[in-house]
Amino acid sequence: MSGLAVRDLPETASTPVLEIDLSAVADNTRLLAGRASGELMAVVKADGFGHGALDVARTALANGATWLGATSLLEALRLRDAGLTAPVLSWLNPVDADFGTAVAHGIDVAVPGLEHLAAVAAAPGRARVHLHVDAGMARDGASPSLWPQLCRSARRAEQRGELDVVGVMGHLGCAEDPGDPCNPAGRLRFAWALETARAAGLRPAHRHLAATAATLTDPRTHHTMSRVGAGLVGIDPSGTTVLRRPMRLTAPLVTVRRVRAGTPVGYGHAHVTAASTHLGLVPLGYADGLPRLASGRAEVLVAGRRRPVVGRLSMDQLVVDLGDLPPAPGATVTLFGPGDDGEPTVADWARWAETIEHEIVTGLGHRVTRRVRTAGAHLRSLS
Ligand SMILES: *Cc1c(COP(=O)(O)O)cnc(C)c1O
Repeated sequence: MSGLAVRDLPETASTPVLEIDLSAVADNTRLLAGRASGELMAVVKADGFGHGALDVARTALANGATWLGATSLLEALRLRDAGLTAPVLSWLNPVDADFGTAVAHGIDVAVPGLEHLAAVAAAPGRARVHLHVDAGMARDGASPSLWPQLCRSARRAEQRGELDVVGVMGHLGCAEDPGDPCNPAGRLRFAWALETARAAGLRPAHRHLAATAATLTDPRTHHTMSRVGAGLVGIDPSGTTVLRRPMRLTAPLVTVRRVRAGTPVGYGHAHVTAASTHLGLVPLGYADGLPRLASGRAEVLVAGRRRPVVGRLSMDQLVVDLGDLPPAPGATVTLFGPGDDGEPTVADWARWAETIEHEIVTGLGHRVTRRVRTAGAHLRSLS
């Protein structure tokens, strides 16, 4: 076996595969760009919500997005390293982050408070800054009690030539429920923040509040730009819009065994077969991002039929009850996909695991083979 490398494995080897169809990202981007009143920022944090940051970024930019958004400076720099030249905003950095490097690479940074303002002002070069106001979720962004002072200090730093305030940003805490009173409160808070910035002498060209849900449900939140992440990859937190799902996760059946009624299955014997049946073994588990909480609830598609996952999901494997007429080992099991052929979707897995789709897609596939279908339908393999 010595000397055998991953690249020597045949292309046809039957392994778990996470396929990502970028034509879905392209369609979703066009839909969102059409809905947004202003520009569209493609948020590609967390490796493009698990879909590949560079692939999602390039696809979004080719289909109507004009900006890229990332949390950390490191995520933003990776976009620059890959040769992407679109405007990039990074909004979540500790106060001692290397803001000089951000300036050198033309990366805009969000400033959520006076300590960050001082650090960005002191960095070499003239930073492009988006002042970040808390629109009512007490998470990131400056609290309203600090905002007027932050605006005045930023204006003084601007006059000293230390930075330019090119944007003001906020984020809504309840946008997935358009009827929640937290939304009008957030819109008002943001409008007040813009007025306050203007009164301090700031003239931010980019004013952005909406993420996917607000972009799809409330034009009053759009201002000059929408920052969308989830929607690009087919997740609509507002549940109002049909988007395309790019991911499909499949794996081969490893073994098929016949068992009697009353057979305990898996760790803790959490499941006992009610009748004689066939059990199929699938080489995917919670280390691949399938949530253990979905044990006893999840289903998969095998040979055109939905079959239940039985017993507890293990780290690397799960067991499916295949019933009386089982397919042979090697048959393809679909864990989830777009849903067009009766297979479960990421939304089903999120429901089974009592979580949101975001958590499923960002946790997946660190050891499965990734295959990317480009918007032009060309297939590319990654390891
Ligand atoms: C993640 C994030 C977004 C994108 O939100 P989606 O709901 O995924 O579109 C926008 N702005 C900020 C500050 C974020 O953290």
